[in-house]
Amino acid sequence: MEAGETGTRTYLGVPLYRPRVAFFEFSSCEGCQLQILNNESTLLDFLSLVDVVNFREAMTGGSDDYEIAFVEGSITRDDEVKRLKKIRKKAKTLVALGSCACFGGVNQLKNRFKDINKAKKEVYGRHPIDSEPVRTLEDIVKVDLKIYGCPVKKEEVEKIALHIAIGKSIVFPKYPVCMECKRNENICLFELGEPCLGPVTRAGCDSWCPNSRAGCWGCRGPADEPNMEQMKKIMEEYGFSEETIMDRLECFGGFSSLMGKGNTK
Ligand code: SF4
Ligand code: SF4
Ligand code: SF4
Repeated sequence: MEAGETGTRTYLGVPLYRPRVAFFEFSSCEGCQLQILNNESTLLDFLSLVDVVNFREAMTGGSDDYEIAFVEGSITRDDEVKRLKKIRKKAKTLVALGSCACFGGVNQLKNRFKDINKAKKEVYGRHPIDSEPVRTLEDIVKVDLKIYGCPVKKEEVEKIALHIAIGKSIVFPKYPVCMECKRNENICLFELGEPCLGPVTRAGCDSWCPNSRAGCWGCRGPADEPNMEQMKKIMEEYGFSEETIMDRLECFGGFSSLMGKGNTK
C-alpha cells in the first residue's frame, strides 16, 4: 500500500476507499477513545484503513466533513443534545461507542436518586454544575451501530471499522461471556468465591475480566435471551445477596429494561 500523489491511498494503482471518520465525546471518562489509541502495534493498520479527520484526544484541528461518527459518552446537558443532533446531521453512520453511549454507563447510576439536587449538592457542594438525568444517544438521535463495553475492546472496534470499510456485514456474538470464558479455560470464579454476571452478559470481550480473575459486571449488557432467574439462583446458591446481584446488574445500565427502571435511593 502506498500514498498517492493526492494523498489517496492506492493498491496496484487502484484508489482505495478510506472512509472519513470522526471521534466525539460527551459525558464520559474518554476511556473508550483511549482504547483506540492503546496498543500502538495495530494503530498504523487502523489509520491506513480509515481517514481520521476529527479526534480531539489524538490530534489538533479537525474537520466537519466526515462519513462515520464514533460517539462516546452519555447525554447529561442541553448543550450536548444540540451538539449530538448536529453530528447526526453530518454523519452517514453514527456509531455509539461504549456503554455510556449505548446504555448511559456508570453515569446513569445518578438517575436512581429521587432528589437529583440533593445528590448534586452532595457531590459538587457550593459549585453546582448543569447536570440533567442521563440519556443514551438513542434517546436523542438515530444510532446505526452500537459497540458495547466499558471500555470498548480495541480489537472489536478495529474489526468493525474494517467491515464498514469493505462493506462486510457486522455480526455480534449472541451468546454469553461464559462461552468465551470456557474457551479460555478459566476456572469459574464462582468456585473461587467471586460473583460473576458472565452467564447473562453479551460476549465479545473475550472474557476480559474473568481472564484476570475478576467477575463480570455486565458492561456489555445482556446476551440474547438471558436467563435472569437462573442467574439469580446461581448467585443465591453460592451465597451472594440480592444486593450484590443488583449492584452488578445496575452498574452500567445495560440490564435496565430487564429489571424495570426506577429510582431506588
Ligand atoms: S464506557 Fe466506560 S470507558 Fe467508555 S467512556 Fe464510558 S466510562 Fe469511560
Ligand atoms: S467465571 Fe464467570 S464467565 Fe467464567 S464460567 Fe464462571 S460465571 Fe461464566
Ligand atoms: S467480562 Fe463482563 S464486565 Fe468484563 S469486559 Fe467483559 S462484559 Fe465487561
